[in-house]
Amino acid sequence: MERETPAQLRRLPLAPVNPIRVTERAQLLAQEVLRAGDIAMDGTAGKGRDTACLAQAVGASGHVHAFDIQPEALSATANLLTLAGLADRVTLHACSHADLAAVLPAAHRGRLGAALFNLGYLPGGNTAIITRPDSTALALQAAYAELRPGGRLICVAYTGHPGGAEESDVVQAFGRAREAAGDAVVRHGLLPNPGKPWILSVTKPEGIR
Ligand code: SAM
Repeated sequence: MERETPAQLRRLPLAPVNPIRVTERAQLLAQEVLRAGDIAMDGTAGKGRDTACLAQAVGASGHVHAFDIQPEALSATANLLTLAGLADRVTLHACSHADLAAVLPAAHRGRLGAALFNLGYLPGGNTAIITRPDSTALALQAAYAELRPGGRLICVAYTGHPGGAEESDVVQAFGRAREAAGDAVVRHGLLPNPGKPWILSVTKPEGIR
């Protein structure tokens, strides 16, 4: 079979450049920095997929603190972790992610390798129970304060539901402040693209406590 010339190749329809789902990309950003033995935070446990991913990444010697305000979400997460054999390395917190500092054990303070937030509402659940700009702002600050040097905060923000755009602005403001302070800040998929999710990634510099 003859190979296409460069001119023929240029006429081929373009495949999607980045077909990866936003939630998978956020997990990859966490996996990139997590090491065995790390402590990690899932700010929004939901159905537990992110919690399970973090629990795998920190290994048997690490630990994950997962938060959700909905009992339904916490029981879905507990079921998934049990099925995956990961339940003993996760603590589920039935409170707001903004309460991190109040519930994080002293031995885990300042040791977060990653803090992952997937904002919005529980898929298939009550769409009125959503993350809110005020508590999200507090939680982002609290989680950043507990990152270890080289640790990363990852936040998936949605703009398509009522209140989503305001919450996305809060996430943007946090990212801008961290950038001004000298952190490595990357925004994935932040386009003038109303209704679409995007990811903020903030990595705390090595050597800063
Ligand atoms: N990470 C989840 C997963 O892997 O399935 C998806 C999370 S879902 C998009 C958002 C979750 O945030 C919902 O389960 C909701 O109950 C929870 N949530 C809302 N406000 C919260 C708060 N203040 N603190 C912690 N969780 C909250």
